[in-house]
Amino acid sequence: MGLLKCLENFKPRSHDVYTENEMREINIAILKERRVSVDDIAFLAYSAQSKYVDGLTLPEMQESVLEILGKRDQFHAIMLAASVDVAAEKGLLDEPLQSILMHDLGLFGLDETIAISIAGNYGQIGVTNFGNLDVNKPGKISILQGDKEHCNCFLDDIVGAIAAVAAIRVAQRHALAEANMPKEEIH
Ligand code: MG
Repeated sequence: MGLLKCLENFKPRSHDVYTENEMREINIAILKERRVSVDDIAFLAYSAQSKYVDGLTLPEMQESVLEILGKRDQFHAIMLAASVDVAAEKGLLDEPLQSILMHDLGLFGLDETIAISIAGNYGQIGVTNFGNLDVNKPGKISILQGDKEHCNCFLDDIVGAIAAVAAIRVAQRHALAEANMPKEEIH
């Protein structure tokens, strides 16, 4: 029995490596199934970064989120986070882990650990940004955390980390543009 509907009929490749477009498509489908959109993450990233970067636009942040969603580490983290959350939601885990995840125990920190492992992909400042989102829980993050019908133990942190990475990627690109250097150096 599968966990995520959007991957029900997925045929894995023998080498387990996928293209950026494939990873992006799967990531977006998983997030959608877990009630998170690209715009939700872009808005979190935009809100976190707009006070620091002059002329920042929401479309620029949407583009940044899409770029991040094509990266392998993010692909692995999103799949892992959503799969564990859904397994808990379906009651498939053993106790006491089942209850720890369903109750989103504050002392359980491995959800943050996985998020931190991807938050610094475009510079360590992303980890600080993630920490800020984790403490203040703006917008979609508090909606995910407050959702008592579903288990979002891992996903709320991954969403925060992707927003943090997208924000830092844009900040890095703006810094290059201000120094008259090609933004393409930051992929
Ligand atoms: Mg969490």
